Amino acid sequence: MRGGIPKLQRMAETTTKPIGPYERLSAEVHEWDPRTIEVAARVGELVRERRPDLVVEHIGSTAVPGLPGKGIVDLSIETTPDDIPGVVAMLYDLGFGPQPGPDPWPPTRPMPVGSLELDGTHYRIHLHVQPKGGDFPRDIAFRDALRNDPELRSQYEGLKRGITGGGAVEGLRYTHSKTRWILSVYRRLGFAPPPIAPPATVGILGGGQLGRMLGLAARELGYRITVLDPDEHAPAASIADSMEVATFDDVEAAQRMAARCSVITYELEHVGPAVVSALDDRRRPIRPGPYPLKLTADRLAERRFVEANEGHVAEWREVTSPADVLRAAAELGYPLRLKAARGGYDGRGQARIDGSDAITELDGRIGWPALLERELAFEAELSVVVARNVDGVSHTFPIARNRHERGILIESTVPAGVPAKVEEAAADLATSLATSMGLVGTLTVELFLMPDGSLVVNELAPRVHNSGHWSIEGAVTSQFEQHLRAICGLPLGSVEMRAPAAAMVNLLGEGAPRPAHPTGIYEALLVPDTHLHIYDKATVFERRKMGHLTALGATVDEALERARAAAGHIGWAPAPEGSPTQASDG
Ligand code: ADP
Ligand code: MG
Repeated sequence: MRGGIPKLQRMAETTTKPIGPYERLSAEVHEWDPRTIEVAARVGELVRERRPDLVVEHIGSTAVPGLPGKGIVDLSIETTPDDIPGVVAMLYDLGFGPQPGPDPWPPTRPMPVGSLELDGTHYRIHLHVQPKGGDFPRDIAFRDALRNDPELRSQYEGLKRGITGGGAVEGLRYTHSKTRWILSVYRRLGFAPPPIAPPATVGILGGGQLGRMLGLAARELGYRITVLDPDEHAPAASIADSMEVATFDDVEAAQRMAARCSVITYELEHVGPAVVSALDDRRRPIRPGPYPLKLTADRLAERRFVEANEGHVAEWREVTSPADVLRAAAELGYPLRLKAARGGYDGRGQARIDGSDAITELDGRIGWPALLERELAFEAELSVVVARNVDGVSHTFPIARNRHERGILIESTVPAGVPAKVEEAAADLATSLATSMGLVGTLTVELFLMPDGSLVVNELAPRVHNSGHWSIEGAVTSQFEQHLRAICGLPLGSVEMRAPAAAMVNLLGEGAPRPAHPTGIYEALLVPDTHLHIYDKATVFERRKMGHLTALGATVDEALERARAAAGHIGWAPAPEGSPTQASDG
């Protein structure tokens, strides 16, 4: 009887909880352990003592006798959405804690974790708390199928052993590498997620040229679009069904936009963390995903992720002040590149450092913390766009060779003209990075090809990319359509090229800010097999991305010659006398 417990004993009760702490470890495959059944039963009793109305189901690999796995006891409780905070509080009271790691389930579908000691062994526990109407019935059906079908069991076992290769791998990578097979089983069991069908509304965070071209592809498929951007005249504004004019950390505006759409995507990385968390409520998917977004919004987190997933990067240090840079420079050697951890693009938020003199001038020019890395003498810059759909199926577009000038992309050509094994390595790397972050949509991997043929990852973008614009006319399926197919739960399209070669040339602005009026477009379009894209930005200024041209050809040289010739005709009219210069729109 509770009331009768002496004070001292009650204190002991609150400090020694039945569930112990959880430890996050790499994933390794162990033989099935029959005592996991006992662990599940014990937790079931602990929960029942406090909440007799709840049923704790044992799911996952430890619930299937004979199935090897990473040995974590997965348990699942299904309850009403309103009850979820109460269930979580009860579990924390038992000693469970919040899910660690970079990509936890959201509070609307949480997974508290803990451990239970049995005969000296600490069993790790994942306790999924599922809202009614969620994936609970599917998880039970999957477990039962595994229990009843030895063939399915052996397939799953083979898959797991293949992923870890007898060693240990990073936990998220292990989880997401199994997705493709698991989702194919779900599909067979009748739990295929229905596609998001037109005329559903796609929400796009960001209304720049990428949002515009994404929106145009969405329109072709019959979707409606809503866009959030701080500029009411952003390039995507004129093609959107509705728009939320707000900054990327305006939580209320983002929620208003979300309420109108069936899936949310983004065309840029600098979305405020508060917005990402607020949208991550499982009422509608955010794709490519909140985790890929958070990860790539921070160059330091991105570097760590690439390294944890066996990608090579330039030697780097995290730095938080000019003094730090000076110290790290002594270790790394010059020349160096300094990049603000957050917010940079098209070479902005970066500095090249060729000696200690340059370091004193840095403060105020760059945001801290920052990434400091060796400048690499690469042979070429390459990029690969990979799309991964909800079933975990991935397709990589042919690799592009990119030319940058002062940090900004000016030309992309495809094929990249690299040996087949470099092309393959780049595709494998992109696929593995997309898988490891559980991405649904497109991921662009910017690479440096080194003189020895090795590949170094420069940057990741969980989105369509300037270096993939050639695919609009150059591939059977454009990167924009592919992204939409992926995020809407549709099959991916073919990434075959439509011509032997394609070249894309960016149309950058020049001169003082003024209303944007392109000139020479008639002459440009006399060039054969050339396609013009103007982004409808109200204002032109020096080095602003105003549009692009893609030309197809029998060879890369021919395509590039055409695209350059056409681009050479395009200019921007001087401001007419007395016309007001519009405010810069980003
Ligand atoms: P952004 O977000 O602006 O695209 P990046 O990190 O991709 O930033 O840098 C822009 C360009 O600067 C790269 O495409 C490349 O040409 C050059 N660059 C960046 N980092 C390095 C480096 N470590 N070594 C050599 N060139 C670099
Ligand atoms: Mg870049």
